[in-house]
Amino acid sequence: MQRTVVGIALVTAGCAGLTQPTPGTNAATAELRNAQGQVVGTATLAEVSGGVRVLVDARGLPSGLKGVHIHAVGRCEPPGFTSAGGHFNPDGKTHGFDDPEGPHAGDLPNMAVGADGVGRLESMNERITLAPGPESVLDADGSAIVVHAAPDDFKTDPAGNSGARIACGVIVRGK
Ligand code: ZN
Repeated sequence: MQRTVVGIALVTAGCAGLTQPTPGTNAATAELRNAQGQVVGTATLAEVSGGVRVLVDARGLPSGLKGVHIHAVGRCEPPGFTSAGGHFNPDGKTHGFDDPEGPHAGDLPNMAVGADGVGRLESMNERITLAPGPESVLDADGSAIVVHAAPDDFKTDPAGNSGARIACGVIVRGK
């Protein structure tokens, strides 16, 4: 199943015809910063037909596969970013695409970061919304995009054994 999830991410990344946001729909962004406070990327979220399109463009990161998740609290306090809480999980699921009781609403595919420190993740998430409601990442305490030091194994609860939190960005409405 892990291979399937990665495959979907690659297919999505290679598809020029990704659903474009329709006028008047919600959009949100997050500026990712590392533990030293340096900007290391941007995430953009757009409400589209069937879900929310999540794009992460990162730079200045250590190379390798990185777990990326939407965390439940919109607070990014370096260096550990534990202030962002656990994975966004309004439906009380367990972690991971490979867990029969999962995934968390905030689970995302891994992001590949090259030797040049640049990474890009492009995916659709049908479990979240930017509109008001229980699945809204723009809820009262906000949400954050967190990049981890290691890849998500898509099965170990609660965070896929993805290691330390190396970058964090608070999701804010607007574009
Ligand atoms: Zn999770």
